[in-house]
Amino acid sequence: MSGFDADRYSRQTRFAPLGAAGQEKLAATRIVIVGCGALGSASAVALVRAGVGFLRLIDRDLPERSNLPRQLLFDEADVAEGLPKAVAAARQLARINAAARIEPVVVDLVAGNALDLLAAADVIVDGTDNLEARYLVNEVACRTGTPWVHGGAIGAEGRVLTVLPGRTACLRCLVPDPPPPGTLPTCETAGILGSAAMVVGAVQAAEVIKLVAGATETAGRMMAFDLWSGEWRTLDLTPLAAAGCPTCRAGDYPWLEGRLGSPATELCGRDAVHLPAAAGGSVDLAALAQRLAAVGPVTVNPWMLRADVEPGCQLSVFADGRVIVGGTRDPARARVVVARYL
Ligand SMILES: [Zn+2]
Repeated sequence: MSGFDADRYSRQTRFAPLGAAGQEKLAATRIVIVGCGALGSASAVALVRAGVGFLRLIDRDLPERSNLPRQLLFDEADVAEGLPKAVAAARQLARINAAARIEPVVVDLVAGNALDLLAAADVIVDGTDNLEARYLVNEVACRTGTPWVHGGAIGAEGRVLTVLPGRTACLRCLVPDPPPPGTLPTCETAGILGSAAMVVGAVQAAEVIKLVAGATETAGRMMAFDLWSGEWRTLDLTPLAAAGCPTCRAGDYPWLEGRLGSPATELCGRDAVHLPAAAGGSVDLAALAQRLAAVGPVTVNPWMLRADVEPGCQLSVFADGRVIVGGTRDPARARVVVARYL
């Protein structure tokens, strides 16, 4: 007696590398998706349709109109209703596949809860929008020996890397130090095509299915594409894996242990939240001002920059990397805004 609906998955089990044995394993697999935006939506839809047995969705945000071009799990009614993304996503996924157990978790993934939330996963999927959360996921994965599938999309470009801790290169092997805040483009500053994010989410889901089926030969190769130029590449990261890094080889977990990262604090008596400088420190305010000018009015002087990035929400970025998010008292909300624009 199999643990899955044989008719429902017949086209999938006929694919020989997966087969009925792989489908059986999918039904018994526990997946955690961190971030329920464009990548998390696409990978969750693909995985729940593919028949994974358990899916935990972690997200700190609410759906907004500007999410709708690329975040497959949400519609206009969800935006109007204002349910957290994880909850709205779980509701939609349950309609797609009633046999899947879906667990929404509405939190900001931070050092204090990451191990609890991620440790029971068979595979972790990266649907996050910021490097800090990715380092945290990488460290939990390395510490617990859990495979994880990194994904990223910006503009028309995407990349996916499957990390098998101890066997392949990890995120820190690839990016040893976080770049200074504000130097990387984000979806808000550089834009994004929904189709690029959907490709990344679909590839991530395929990587999970391969891992569950035991097909690990291609893990550790970074897949990268640009839908606009039509280029698709695979980068062999074996040389990086051979060298390793302090996290995947020596058990150094600076983000998980709180030595790196930025605890957000509410500013007393003000409708604002202060975030200390992240690792990387000083910010090129002039360059940041140029990028944020596409988003809203910006004023800049040698010490700080002020930008109206969203209605009622003002970012003040200091040259030393500190940030104040005006218009909210909620640290999680402030971190969402910072991840979006910086
Ligand atoms: Zn490493």
